[in-house]
Amino acid sequence: ILQVNKLKKSFEQLEVLKQISFDVEKNDVVAVIGPSGSGKSTMLRSLIHLEEIDGGSITVNGDYLVNEGTYTSPKQIKQITSRMGMVFQHFNLFPHLTVVENLELAPKLVKEGNAHQNRKDSMELLEKVGLSDKANALPGKLSGGQKQRVAIARALMRKPDILLFDEPTSALDPELTGEVLTVIKDLAKEQMTMVIVTHEMEFARDVANKVLFMDNGEIVESGPPVDVLINPKMERTKKFLYRTK
Ligand code: ATP
Ligand code: MG
Repeated sequence: ILQVNKLKKSFEQLEVLKQISFDVEKNDVVAVIGPSGSGKSTMLRSLIHLEEIDGGSITVNGDYLVNEGTYTSPKQIKQITSRMGMVFQHFNLFPHLTVVENLELAPKLVKEGNAHQNRKDSMELLEKVGLSDKANALPGKLSGGQKQRVAIARALMRKPDILLFDEPTSALDPELTGEVLTVIKDLAKEQMTMVIVTHEMEFARDVANKVLFMDNGEIVESGPPVDVLINPKMERTKKFLYRTK
């Protein structure tokens, strides 16, 4: 469903991504792990065109977002990125909009669906994340875990083919991470295709079918969780895993 080939990205002199290649198949749950500064967020942001890459290709369902460093038309970029949803570490909810308005903003802006359908979809999604009763609350009144569940529901509004998560629980108190991880686990059970940058190794082991270990702008090791997390081959992976335990 998603192909990344030799993706390169620098910020000024700093080479942040050095020819990264990987594939995501339909129904994959890919966990991306690695030390701070290894390029995980930059990689994820590139997939959804929040960063422009300097070289390499990204295709979604066979359509190029960027072909050997050259971006396709703005129309096609929009079309491709609209099939992806993203959930950020810091939720990025609009504080002046209610929960349900946050969900309905994107479809409204792109004139997708109608008010009635969007309300129906948003209420269904809020029910799915266990927040039906918070539809008319402002985000400021919610706990971190609730905010993140709203952010997940919002990312699902346009029925994405792929959902991207950038450390969805890192900003949460430990007692609130469970409720967010449970929502993500439920999505995995429903065969949602997901790429999840995470520090939660146990979660990665339980939920992901593929793990990518990134270090210093490279994918050092990738494969099923048993290989990468339990029997890593590369010294750098071992060092990282033993350090974070
Ligand atoms: P973390 O685990 O801390 O979130 P990360 O693996 O997500 O780290 P990135 O945020 O992708 O790492 O950053 C990779 C490198 O790129 C870092 O050295 C960072 O300082 C640098 N970087 C990221 N964004 C920018 C930017 N907009 N301008 C300049 N440098 C940046
Ligand atoms: Mg990051």
